Amino acid sequence: MGERIYTHGMADERRCSRCEGALHVGFLEDKGERGSIAASRVLSWIDGQAETGAFGGAKVFGKERHAVSAYRCGQCSHLDLFVD
Ligand SMILES: [Zn+2]
Repeated sequence: MGERIYTHGMADERRCSRCEGALHVGFLEDKGERGSIAASRVLSWIDGQAETGAFGGAKVFGKERHAVSAYRCGQCSHLDLFVD
C-alpha cells in the first residue's frame, strides 16, 4: 500500500487539469449488467458517435476501442480521463 508502480518506466507525470495536483492512475470498470461471475472489464472509448441498436445497446461491432485510463487527483479528487 502506498507504493507507486510505474508500468511503462516513463517520467510521464500527469497533472490535474484543474489544480495541477499529482494524478493517480486508475481505470473505470465496465461491470455489465448480467452475469455475476463475469470478469470486470476496463471501460472502452470508441471513436465516432454512438449508434444505438434494436435492443438499446450501442453498436460497437468493427469499431476500434481504446482502454480508458482514469486519473484521480490526489488533491481535489477531480477525475481526468485519458485514452492511451
Ligand atoms: Zn486537482
